[in-house]
Amino acid sequence: MLQRPPAEPGMREDEVDTPALILDLDAFEANLDAMAGFLAPTGTKLRAHAKTHKSPIVALQQMRRGAVGQCVQKVAEAEALAWGGVTDILVSNEVVSPKKLARLAALTRLSKVALCADNHDAVALIEQAAEAAGLRMTVLVEIDVGAGRCGVQPGPEAVALAQRIAGSPHLIFGGLQAYHGSAQHIRTPAGRAEAIASAIEQTRRTVEQLRQQGLDCAIIGGAGTGTFRHEAASGVYNEIQAGSYAFMDADYAANEEAPPFRHALFVLAQVMSRPRADFAVLDAGHKALPTDSGFAKPWQRPGLRYVGASDEHGNLRVEDGVAPVLGDKLRLVPGHCDPTIDRYDWFVGVRGGRVECLWPIAARGAMS
Ligand code: PLP
Ligand code: MN
Repeated sequence: MLQRPPAEPGMREDEVDTPALILDLDAFEANLDAMAGFLAPTGTKLRAHAKTHKSPIVALQQMRRGAVGQCVQKVAEAEALAWGGVTDILVSNEVVSPKKLARLAALTRLSKVALCADNHDAVALIEQAAEAAGLRMTVLVEIDVGAGRCGVQPGPEAVALAQRIAGSPHLIFGGLQAYHGSAQHIRTPAGRAEAIASAIEQTRRTVEQLRQQGLDCAIIGGAGTGTFRHEAASGVYNEIQAGSYAFMDADYAANEEAPPFRHALFVLAQVMSRPRADFAVLDAGHKALPTDSGFAKPWQRPGLRYVGASDEHGNLRVEDGVAPVLGDKLRLVPGHCDPTIDRYDWFVGVRGGRVECLWPIAARGAMS
C-alpha cells in the first residue's frame, strides 16, 4: 500500500512526520551538475543507474543535464521509467524468465530498451521473446572484469556470445557491459585504480577482438560512483553507470579520497525515548535504515552515535554534555543509499529548511 506523504509543501523540516526520506535539493542538484561537469570533457556519457533513485522524476533531471539514458536492474524498474517518460533504458543485468522477457519486449514499443546476457541459452530465450513480439531486441554481452559476479570471460568467450547475438535475425548486438562492482568500495585510491586498470585492459582487449570479427560496440558501459573517473578517462568505456553520486551515503564517504559529491540524502528520525542520560532511542531502526553497509551517521550532531538497531528502534549513544530532548528530530546519513531509498514511497525535497516538493518513488519495491 502506498503510504501517506509525510509532509506537505511549505512545511518546515521539523514538521515532517518521521521516519521520512529527506532530499536536500541544493546538494542533489549540485551533485547532478558536478557529474555532468566531470564527464563533459571526457567524451563519455552518463547512463545513470536508476536502481538507486527508482524515479522517472530524478531520471529526467539527469537526462536534462546530458545523461543519454538510464540503467536499471529489474524489468519492473524499466517499466516504471518508460511509463514515466524515459526513452532510453539499459537493463544492466541478466533476464531469463520468458514472462519478464515478454514484458521487456512490449516495452520496446515505448522506449529504446537493451538488456545483458552472459549465456547462450539465455540469448535463445531473448530471441524467442523478440520473435514472438515481432520486433528486434538489443542485447549486450556482460563480461566479468573482476567483480566475480555475472558475466562471461573477456576475450574469446565474449566474442562467441556476441557472434551468436549478431547472427540472429531477431536480435541486435549492442555492445559490452563491463562493470566492476567490487572495486567501488575499495578504500584506497591506489587499490581502486589498480582494479579498474585491469578492468579497462580486459575490456579494451575484448573490444579489439570483436572489431576483428566485424562487430562494433555501440555501448561499452560500466563504472560506479567510486571509480567513474578512471573509466571515463580510459578511452575505452563510452558510458558511465554511476547511481549513488546523486545522493551519497556513509559507505561512499568512508572511501579514502571519497567521491566528490555532497550528502543529499537523509532519513529524518525522531527521539522517542530518553531512558538514560547516555542513551536515546529513535523511531528509525532496521525497517527504516538498512545496515548492510554499516549504521547511519547522525548529521551535524556531534556527540551522538547510532550504535544499534532493532526492527523499529534506533539506539543512539549520547556523550556527556549533549542532550537530545524527547521529540527532537534529526537527520541521519544512511549507510547505503540504494536499499534506503527503496524503503520509502516519497522523496521529501527540502530547500532552505522548507519542504518544496514530494516526489513519488515510483519503482519502490520493484523487484520483478
Ligand atoms: N552499474 C551496475 C551494473 C551496478 O550494479 C551498479 C551498482 O551496484 C552501478 C553501476 C553503480 O552504482 P553506484 O554508483 O550506485 O555505486
Ligand atoms: Mn549501492
